[in-house]
Amino acid sequence: MCTESYPQRVLRYCPRCGKGHFSPYNDKANKCDACGFVFYFNAATAVAVIIKDKENRVLLTTRAFNPGKGTLDLPGGFVDPLESAEHAIDREIKEELNLTITEKKYLGSFPNTYLYGDVVYFTCDLVFECTVETFEGMQAKDDVTHCEFYTITEKLLENVGATSIKNILRKYFL
Ligand SMILES: [Zn+2]
Repeated sequence: MCTESYPQRVLRYCPRCGKGHFSPYNDKANKCDACGFVFYFNAATAVAVIIKDKENRVLLTTRAFNPGKGTLDLPGGFVDPLESAEHAIDREIKEELNLTITEKKYLGSFPNTYLYGDVVYFTCDLVFECTVETFEGMQAKDDVTHCEFYTITEKLLENVGATSIKNILRKYFL
């Protein structure tokens, strides 16, 4: 299961003592043979937000940056250290779309891999269906170049970049 870009392979020097004896310890961690330090590659928490219009179309964004620059995505992003998923939703939706969330309903979680700087990060995307105060003032900003409501079809999913986001849209809309 371990590809060349997985952190188990990429991180070859111990981040604690700097020696070059940092090798896979189990499926989830590397261990330093010099100082005994064990580092676990835990999944990072991320949020994916479903916002619908009256016609049951889904608000998708176009990614400004890699991975998946130019592909469609659900609004959302990584949860910061010591931040709640709920706060991350409020923050990301304000940053990307200039919208204010009024209600959040948790739907489920979807694992993903995220290639950034030649290293794979494992993520767990938490999906929430949300409502907003108003769509007035909606604007694509920050790490998105465009936002629009779409009817979800299998054909449209070809333009969606992340596997987890395809799975989310397939599960709830197809
Ligand atoms: Zn070490």
